[in-house]
Amino acid sequence: MLYGVKDLRIENIEVPEVGAGEVLVRVKAATTCGTDLKIFQRGYVEKVIKLPTVFGHEWAGEVVEVGGGLEWPKKGMRVRAGNSAPCLHCIMCQKGKYNLCENMIWLWGAYAEYIKVPARMVPVNMQEIPQHVSYEEAAFTEPLACVLHGVEEARVKLGDTVAIIGAGPIGLLHLLSVKKTGAGKTIIIDLVDERLNFAEKLGPDETINAGRENVVEKVRQLTGGYGADVVIEAIGLPATWEQALKLVRKGGTVLEFGGCPPGTEIKLDTELLHYGEVTVLGTFHATPLHFREALSLISSRTLDVRPLVTRRMRLEDIKEAFEILSTSKTEIKIAINS
Ligand SMILES: [Zn+2]
Ligand SMILES: [Zn+2]
Repeated sequence: MLYGVKDLRIENIEVPEVGAGEVLVRVKAATTCGTDLKIFQRGYVEKVIKLPTVFGHEWAGEVVEVGGGLEWPKKGMRVRAGNSAPCLHCIMCQKGKYNLCENMIWLWGAYAEYIKVPARMVPVNMQEIPQHVSYEEAAFTEPLACVLHGVEEARVKLGDTVAIIGAGPIGLLHLLSVKKTGAGKTIIIDLVDERLNFAEKLGPDETINAGRENVVEKVRQLTGGYGADVVIEAIGLPATWEQALKLVRKGGTVLEFGGCPPGTEIKLDTELLHYGEVTVLGTFHATPLHFREALSLISSRTLDVRPLVTRRMRLEDIKEAFEILSTSKTEIKIAINS
């Protein structure tokens, strides 16, 4: 069930007590994300988050208390963790699909002064942050992990033309990632000029305003009439899921990355899969391996996420931050500092 929201309040709650194997962290920075915005605006899948609760899931901070039985981490260590930990023993985990774990635990509560990392999460999805990496950069580990998972499954190859629908934070992280994977030409599509102007700074080869231009025609024109090798939908609307299918070349791949609400259906012409041999796939979340890779790419600045922070605000202004995000055309990510 979806919970009626927009009722976001600052409340005083107890600092969580730390049990064996658990770690208490003082949150230093937490970033806003499309998922948090969805929770704020319309609620979310109850399986993943039960409201009312503290929310926010992209964060980093400093260890203040370490539960019994742990040799690592140490008090004072700079870390990031979560937002998930697979059980490692269900059938999905045994097949290596850790992101689809039947018993996944999730960690919410980054928009707070303290966050407690559950015992299961400490060994599988918590990392120390190198000194030169800021807390807000480290907070990008979670969204980047999801994007790396998507790019890996879509198998972007050297020289590929990649079209990305959506110039929000997730679309932009895809853009940064596929450029590093060796995409030969990148095209980014959005309805909002301000977002496309922002995207321009990250060096796409082409931008298309879907409100003014015929996207299908334009992509064909930019690809010698064939369509893109890989198309990535990074919005999460049925209309753009369907549009993605029209932009791909024969034998190409469509990655439907943006999550639509459960029960959403789209139309798909079977000719595309049969005669066109198009691969259509979705990816959900990420595995612990992707989280590690993401932090390592952020730390080496192979993927420089710093330009994506467009504003910094204090924890006490969290409601204002989400109101700004709901209406703004220019904000990508707001870093919340506590
Ligand atoms: Zn996120
Ligand atoms: Zn599992």
